[in-house]
Amino acid sequence: MRVAKTINETQAFLRNVRRDGKTVGLVPTMGAFHDGHLSLMQRARNEEDIVAVSLFVNPTQFGPNEDFDGYTRDFENDARLAQGVGVDLLFAPEAEEMYPDRPLTTVHVDGLTEPLCGAFREGHFDGVTTVCCKLFNIFSPDRAYFGRKDYQQVQVVRRMAIDLNLGVTIVPVPTVREPDGLAMSSRNAYLTAEERAVAPKLYEALQAGANAIRQGACGPDAEALIRDTLAAEPRFGLQYVSALHPETLEPATWSGPPMVLAAAAFLGKARLIDNVLVEA
Ligand code: AMP
Repeated sequence: MRVAKTINETQAFLRNVRRDGKTVGLVPTMGAFHDGHLSLMQRARNEEDIVAVSLFVNPTQFGPNEDFDGYTRDFENDARLAQGVGVDLLFAPEAEEMYPDRPLTTVHVDGLTEPLCGAFREGHFDGVTTVCCKLFNIFSPDRAYFGRKDYQQVQVVRRMAIDLNLGVTIVPVPTVREPDGLAMSSRNAYLTAEERAVAPKLYEALQAGANAIRQGACGPDAEALIRDTLAAEPRFGLQYVSALHPETLEPATWSGPPMVLAAAAFLGKARLIDNVLVEA
């Protein structure tokens, strides 16, 4: 596995492989790898000639009171794990490499960024889309792999790629879960043992909502059911529970599928998000 700290090194490596007509898949990450990240890399490994991973804790997608400083950073372990699944290129730049000057340009996606996390994390998606646009320009990947766990992120980045003709196909990858159902996340490390024991209830509540949808419930009723289920566990500091159209992310006023049910809640220091897609 090649480790590159600079954009120049990365592009020199990619120029060589492109000359041989090889496909390139990119997996953008912020490190602290768990099996969710590794499943994206494995999927790319199965589908691409060259698998590139970017590891960059992007400061512009964190709000002023968020966990940028405390975010887990363990480059040696991450590099070992990436190598273990056959990654070809690991791009791990310093912030100065990505942002040598204060950027004056931002990529903003309208509409899709307004509900869910967008309503609670001001500027977050502008940070995400801008850094992803930069990464897509640096790598020119054929495909980029994103986890469904960050459901809104997949929709927002996909729309950016289409609207700006970035020439990359966004591949959504299913959420990898702990045996008890908790969606894997780098932020689960913030949970105390007691909080970890109740954390799976977020997914359980979403599943109850999904079952109601399958039986013909409308969006608002599913939301109420999920809220009521979560209210039984006072440690959850609920931010939102939303039933939305899976693509437009508009409120689901109809009954039955298709719908995505998504929720965000603080549990101690960890902000957990999860979602269930109920397909038609
Ligand atoms: P992050 O490092 O948290 O920015 O995540 C990098 C990528 O891994 C994003 O596309 C996430 O959606 C994806 N990801 C994070 N957790 C999971 C998970 N449990 N299952 C699948 N993909 C995940």
